[in-house]
Amino acid sequence: MSNYNWCHNPDCHTIETQSRVRGSGDNKVLRTIKINTNRQWSKDTIWDYFCNNNCLFSFLNKFRQEVANIRPVREPSETPIKVEKTKYESHRYRWTDDGTERVPYQATRTTISRVDND
Ligand SMILES: [Zn+2]
Repeated sequence: MSNYNWCHNPDCHTIETQSRVRGSGDNKVLRTIKINTNRQWSKDTIWDYFCNNNCLFSFLNKFRQEVANIRPVREPSETPIKVEKTKYESHRYRWTDDGTERVPYQATRTTISRVDND
């Protein structure tokens, strides 16, 4: 079982960084980044397949149509919610000639919660 992937950006090997240089003498190359898939922080995430943000977004941009075709979205989805507005005492500061003055006002907090339809 392999414990690594090669970065999936087809242009990864064309990006000029020291970390991609391999070989010796006159036989040097820029090589696709090898990704250790045993790293805990990237386990089961997109980072098992791409070496960084730049490579991920280059890939997404190049294959945007194919990516969109994996799971086409032809209509919006909706999540039933309840929007609750509650008033509470807050304060702001107003500049005065000798500093600031605390001014109370009634603020509004908006809370969105999900509605279970099961
Ligand atoms: Zn890469």
